Amino acid sequence: MNLFDTLDNKRKNINLSEKKKIKIYVCGITPYSESHIGHAMSAVIFDTLRKYLLANKQNVIYVQNFTDIDDKLIQAAEENNSDIKTISTKFINKHLSALSKLNVLKPDYSPKATEEIKEMINMIQTLISKGIAYEIDGDCFFRVGKFETYGKLSKRNFDEMLAGARIEIDSRKENPMDFALWKTKTGNEPGWESPWGEGRPGWHIECSAMSMKYLGQNIDIHGGGRDLIFPHHENEIAQSEAFTNNPPFSNIWMHNGLINLKSEKMSKSLGNIITIDHLLNKFSAAAIRMFFISGNYKNPLEYNTDLIAANERAIMRLKNTSQLKSSENVDHLNTSIFIKNFHDAMQSDLNTSMALGTIFELSKAINQANTQNINIKKAQEDLNNLLDILGININEDQINEKKANFDKVDEQWIKSQIELRNQYRKSKNFSEADAIRKELLSKGVSLLDSKDGTEWTMQ
Ligand SMILES: [Zn+2]
Repeated sequence: MNLFDTLDNKRKNINLSEKKKIKIYVCGITPYSESHIGHAMSAVIFDTLRKYLLANKQNVIYVQNFTDIDDKLIQAAEENNSDIKTISTKFINKHLSALSKLNVLKPDYSPKATEEIKEMINMIQTLISKGIAYEIDGDCFFRVGKFETYGKLSKRNFDEMLAGARIEIDSRKENPMDFALWKTKTGNEPGWESPWGEGRPGWHIECSAMSMKYLGQNIDIHGGGRDLIFPHHENEIAQSEAFTNNPPFSNIWMHNGLINLKSEKMSKSLGNIITIDHLLNKFSAAAIRMFFISGNYKNPLEYNTDLIAANERAIMRLKNTSQLKSSENVDHLNTSIFIKNFHDAMQSDLNTSMALGTIFELSKAINQANTQNINIKKAQEDLNNLLDILGININEDQINEKKANFDKVDEQWIKSQIELRNQYRKSKNFSEADAIRKELLSKGVSLLDSKDGTEWTMQ
């Protein structure tokens, strides 16, 4: 099998016949708000890789962290008059429950940054003793100029890096590119004891320390979204390889494209978030997974509910095929070419779109064979097995006709009806409000009122 490595800018081989350990680290979320479908897409892509390796009897060890201490969390705690632990616990639990609905396997290890501080301090101490990091007034910085190949992952020179990064202005730094490894405690934010006084780790050092603790100095695949290439992964490489003197930190750097909403990156700061639960209320997990892997994982994917509805219909057709009553003929449909093409596609840099194409061809062949009275039992099992490898469960109970016809329901109209109903409720005209609720229900749309407003779901 080969996978594209961002660092060497080429595909690299993974030998599936060796049955050796495959160590994978994928950067996790900062749990300060509800996870959005960009997080879900990345999780599904790496889960598909993991499921494929497991289907090939590989001994995969999969680690994904939670960055449960960070500026955004401190800010969220302040804004909500809460504390960091309460907020991170709430959103970690929501995240895990959403991913489990999407049939994403739990990582073998899910370390939290706040529980691994000792390892981070140890790394920073070593980097300082090697002269690759320095301390000023309780803050520690990585001396970027001391790591000769800095910029090798993102392929940027210093000027480009300066222009492209949100550099923390700090006149104490030797070089504006030097990045924080440890931040001294200010105000009420949480702090941990360290040789440099009370403080907290920088984001980048967290992943290096956790990856090394659970997987050792060298791993096979380090993954994440393309937006993490610079500075996060660039910095991870620099501090990890400077610490171990034993490159490569990761053999393959695998990056997924991001999900766009009207050509814009989805992010909380842009205010264009669609949460995972919102999507799961409208479509089956099977259709969502199929949508996420319908293109090349390295490319951006445009969020499009019409396309997800089309995937929902495709799932229903596959389900029908898998439930056809087979003849008892001794003559069986030969599926070997479909199975071979599926594996060839998956082993060619995780070409899931081609793998899905093969599944649809197999489905078509089964339908055709059935009309010719050929035995399709074994072929139906093969179809299910291939879908299983992709984590697509066509038998989940969330699949139904109404979801498949989602694109024929006018989302704008639903929203306007909800708006109208809210006006009636405000003016205490409950019979009119209830009439709207019933009409929506007759079209398969059910409403859920909460203090944050009214959410709607397809039944
Ligand atoms: Zn990371």
